[in-house]
Amino acid sequence: MVSKKASLPASKNPSDYVIATMGSHSALQILHGARQEGMRNVVVCKKGAERAYKSYGVADEILYVDDWSEWEKVEKELVKRNAIIIPHGSFIAYMGHDRVKAMKAMYFGTKEILEWESNRTMERQWLEAADIKMPRVFATPEEIKKPVIVKFHGAGGGFGYFIAKSAEQFYEVKNRKYPEQNDFALQEYIVGVPIYAHYFFSPLTQELEIMSFDKRYESNADSIGRIRAEDQLSANIYTSYTIVGNIPVVIRESMLPEFFAMGDRVVKTSKKMCGGKGLFGPFCLECIVTRKLEIFVFEISARIVAGTNPFVEGSPYTALRYKEPMSTGRRIARDIKTAIKQGRLREVLG
Ligand code: ATP
Repeated sequence: MVSKKASLPASKNPSDYVIATMGSHSALQILHGARQEGMRNVVVCKKGAERAYKSYGVADEILYVDDWSEWEKVEKELVKRNAIIIPHGSFIAYMGHDRVKAMKAMYFGTKEILEWESNRTMERQWLEAADIKMPRVFATPEEIKKPVIVKFHGAGGGFGYFIAKSAEQFYEVKNRKYPEQNDFALQEYIVGVPIYAHYFFSPLTQELEIMSFDKRYESNADSIGRIRAEDQLSANIYTSYTIVGNIPVVIRESMLPEFFAMGDRVVKTSKKMCGGKGLFGPFCLECIVTRKLEIFVFEISARIVAGTNPFVEGSPYTALRYKEPMSTGRRIARDIKTAIKQGRLREVLG
């Protein structure tokens, strides 16, 4: 069944393949989406983390590891099943780029993009080339001229971020709380509301869709306002952005054209700058919208984001375009299924 030239399975029958992901992040949605498209699925779980996948009955098969260092063992099983791996935020975080790049199993998405989105300098080059408005960055604490958000590299889910208005304030917090951490970015703090825009770009139709929007529910940024300003001061609370959940958002309709245009430019530029096939599949522009309705992008995620999870049965946007409930997980499965049937599998793999 394996064609020599492609070293990809030659079958055009979707039932000869399975959709696979790691048991975390947006796996429920991905597995459910595969089922909705009539494809089999498999989830790889760390022992003890399988409860949700069993309870919701979304998985056709569960493979287990004691630790993610054993992934390569389980990958052999995935290859045997013609599994197509759907990466998500936890998958990339737990595996690391090098192991993802070296993976033999089929992988949905462009591996070349990984470096561009994880390296802050390259990410900025890409987004600036796409004419995306971004918060200013300050090279050193001494250059801080306005409030900045201090981001430590590799801080999962906003953990440890803090706000500083000056070099003194920066060093006071950093030296006291994070004396060992020296890899950080100082980004202008944009005053506005966070909006996460979820896109899907199909390499098969070359069409960009906006799937949904969310905002995050963060501790304790989202709880500080629940107590009096005086109490905030006396309790000496630092704002932190540990993500706890996601909340659906519908944005002002008049802003949609700009969001579409931003997504178009990011995809177009990725083809020129980032190598490989460029950006395709799901991605997210993480934005702050100011009171003047300016949209600043502080980060791009080049894969499915957990903010799509509230839309397992579709969003107010996908309801307009599709007759059936269309989540981002299902949309991924649909492109994979179509690619298999049309003999274009290579176009959706990295
Ligand atoms: P992930 O990589 O999982 O998306 P993260 O750890 O990189 O998350 P961010 O999403 O970058 O964290 O940011 C955490 C929080 O900080 C978000 O609520 C976001 O709104 C806020 N934030 C980030 N950058 C800025 C900025 N420049 N101005 C204002 N708020 C910001």
